[in-house]
Amino acid sequence: MLYDAHTHLHEFLDSRIAKFVREIIIAAVSDDYPSSKRTIELSNTYENIVPCIGIHPWNVDKVGFDELRQLEKLLSETRCIGEVGLDKRFAPQTFNRQVEFFQVFINWAKDYDLPLNIHAPDAWNDALEMIRRADVDRALFHWYTGPLNLIQELRDYGYYISINAAIKIQEKSKAVAREAPLDTILLESDGPYEYRGITLEPPMVKDAASIVAEIKGMGIDDLWNTVSNNFSRLFNL
Ligand SMILES: [Zn+2]
Repeated sequence: MLYDAHTHLHEFLDSRIAKFVREIIIAAVSDDYPSSKRTIELSNTYENIVPCIGIHPWNVDKVGFDELRQLEKLLSETRCIGEVGLDKRFAPQTFNRQVEFFQVFINWAKDYDLPLNIHAPDAWNDALEMIRRADVDRALFHWYTGPLNLIQELRDYGYYISINAAIKIQEKSKAVAREAPLDTILLESDGPYEYRGITLEPPMVKDAASIVAEIKGMGIDDLWNTVSNNFSRLFNL
């Protein structure tokens, strides 16, 4: 099997989802309450889905705290919390509200022993500081493009980073792949996000895997074994 640690599966058509999960185990993230509900439903239909519920930091100004109360009712059915976090690059104007929401998700991760699937462009340090202070056990910094010297620190706390399929054309991802120790690395597509004209999709983790394997000077099977172990530890499979 292959592994995709971060995809918005709820945005794809059912026929495509059915195809993806035949060969890929997917951590499916959500953006708000309706998509969280849909993600849980999908995970009840297909066994190769690890559901993550949450409110994306881009959405915190569009929803009220009452949506958190609705979301809280799904906690007993989920395996992960995401996509949640902080964003100073694309949504700096709502940063203070993002911090309030993120703290709620961190508390849930602690109370329910769930991993966090974190979005943190240009707020890598802020997000790390918040989860470290709360002593969160399991966390993934998705599509990591942060400071290279922070990777070792994330690893020391037992956290993971995911390298996006955009590594094909994104130099920063290549630098991250060179720097990151193998026991920290996961792969992801963030589908169906569009990056520089490419619509990202779960099967593209195969391209990411070959590039990362080449950078690490290892065979593709060994790389997938490593990713599989990391994925299982992160999501407690
Ligand atoms: Zn995402």
